[in-house]
Amino acid sequence: MKFNTKVIHAGVEPDSATGAIMTPIYQTSTYVQQEIGKHKGYEYSRTGNPTRAALESSIAQLENGKYGACFGSGLAAIDCVIKMLKPGDQVISTNDLYGGSYRIFKTIFEKYGIEFHFVDMLNVDNVKAKINDNTKLIWIETPTNPMMNIIDIKAIANLVQGSDVIVGVDNTFATPYLQTPLDLGADIVMHSVTKFLGGHSDVVMGALVTKDDTIAEEIYRIQNSSGAVCGPMDSFLVLRGIKTLHLRVQRHSENGKVIAEFLQSHPLVDMVYWPGFESHPNHNVAKSQMSGFGGMVSFTLKGDSLDKAKKIVSKTKLFTLAESLGGVESLIGHPSTMTHASIPREERLKSGVKDSLIRLSVGVEDASDLVKDLENSFL
Ligand SMILES: *Cc1c(COP(=O)(O)O)cnc(C)c1O
Repeated sequence: MKFNTKVIHAGVEPDSATGAIMTPIYQTSTYVQQEIGKHKGYEYSRTGNPTRAALESSIAQLENGKYGACFGSGLAAIDCVIKMLKPGDQVISTNDLYGGSYRIFKTIFEKYGIEFHFVDMLNVDNVKAKINDNTKLIWIETPTNPMMNIIDIKAIANLVQGSDVIVGVDNTFATPYLQTPLDLGADIVMHSVTKFLGGHSDVVMGALVTKDDTIAEEIYRIQNSSGAVCGPMDSFLVLRGIKTLHLRVQRHSENGKVIAEFLQSHPLVDMVYWPGFESHPNHNVAKSQMSGFGGMVSFTLKGDSLDKAKKIVSKTKLFTLAESLGGVESLIGHPSTMTHASIPREERLKSGVKDSLIRLSVGVEDASDLVKDLENSFL
């Protein structure tokens, strides 16, 4: 099945009890047993729920994987991955990581004896230099937030091919429509389903996908033992959201291009960060591992004025000032005072998060209205 067919059909079978075409919301915690140990495959909804199972199968197929597992949030999915490790194990990750991932690594798991190394993954040699016998996981995120850096998944996966080092990719920004990391050699794909997969800013959820039988067994064991599962109503909403994933991300990408080009030609704008530009430092890697460039666009202002940036984010009307991304509506954010406020200014500046940096999640509205909205906000 091609991707555009999978989003409609994968994982969704007519309901065996009633014939309902859409997977019902199985709002139940438990299931009748005909006799002790004899049931229809479901015993308790932490372990398994038919609505969640349909979604897990759908997401697994979208990522060209075999097994999917859904969680109460993206961070709960990451929590599950790190729980596959033990004290003394080491993780290599990018220094340009989603803040919440950095926080769970540093403030939760470091005290259990797991060691984290954060390196500039744009240079694969930096990853290579940190690999040793205790390395058990390499955690990649690409494109990164908010600088839209592109990391070469295949080159990093090749470094540890044939070893027991697990390569995980946070694929939240790209979505499986634009990028399928398992095909590039990754072992685990992770999503904050909250963003593009859900697509309507109405659900918080996470997911993991793998095609490895042993890794899947571990994931399901932890999912059931730690219990950070998502509910059936949310699973239903995301199944519904996924049916338009291809249409949405196609439009996000088209609109993203229009907005990125508008910003690049604006006299007040300094830098525009969007992997679709030939001038983007890793444009060629983006072109080889992604089928499009998405609707996430960041930019800075000439003179790096914090006041001007604050004025712009408060003046837009269609671009709503809010955290998060990936919904059908356009959002605008100011990383240095919002998502990255907890990082010291010196550290922020090192990774490019200047005072005037503005991040856009370009939605699927009419592109000319979005351009007009930004034009007005610059006045
Ligand atoms: C939002 C986000 C997460 C965390 O997901 P939640 O659903 O908010 O827990 C992780 N990684 C990336 C890239 C994100 O954007």
